[in-house]
Amino acid sequence: RFVVLDGPDGCGKSTQMRLLAQWLGEQGVSTASFRDPGTTAIGEKIREILLSPAHDAMTTPTEVLLYMAARAQLWAEEIAPALQRGRCVLLDRWLSSTCAYQGHAGQFGIEKVIAIANDALDRVWPDLTIVLDVDLATAAGRLNRALDRMEQKGDSYHRKVREGFLKLAEGRPDFVVVDSSLDVDAVHEQVVAAVGRLGSS
Ligand code: C5P
Repeated sequence: RFVVLDGPDGCGKSTQMRLLAQWLGEQGVSTASFRDPGTTAIGEKIREILLSPAHDAMTTPTEVLLYMAARAQLWAEEIAPALQRGRCVLLDRWLSSTCAYQGHAGQFGIEKVIAIANDALDRVWPDLTIVLDVDLATAAGRLNRALDRMEQKGDSYHRKVREGFLKLAEGRPDFVVVDSSLDVDAVHEQVVAAVGRLGSS
């Protein structure tokens, strides 16, 4: 199984990733967790380029191609082999992020992002994408550290990012939107319920 946790900055992804991996472990499921962009040596370098505050001149098409490049590498080096070994793969972000950030908020176009993914990636959509949905004020309260280049883009950009995730998830059976403004345990319960439904389908 291939499961993605995604959502706006400050949605609580890292915490929920950790809790989900722990829960799956307790169920006897062997998991492999990765972050996108990143994980591979090439992907981590691309991540640095993307997030460096020195690169504020970077265009949206450049961002799209760099995120996609990191993803292609992550698929080949880590995800495909892990799936082949029968692991449950948990991913912190994936294509849904590029759709919401660059596609919708950055106005590149969600359809254009998906078209590039179709050409560049062996596997475009996971079995399940869980969107941790959170309002701007709650999210901002959770980001108590120095902001990276993307996080510095301002409220109207981030409002559109949230809108992009919800738009992408609309009407799709492979997406579940979870209210991530709730406390950690309540969100975890919803995440587990979504993954549980996947197991029984
Ligand atoms: O969640 P994580 O810390 O890995 O995200 C890294 C940064 O990349 C965040 O600031 C996020 O907003 C940004 N990002 C983006 N476009 C994507 C994926 C992530 O702007 N497609």
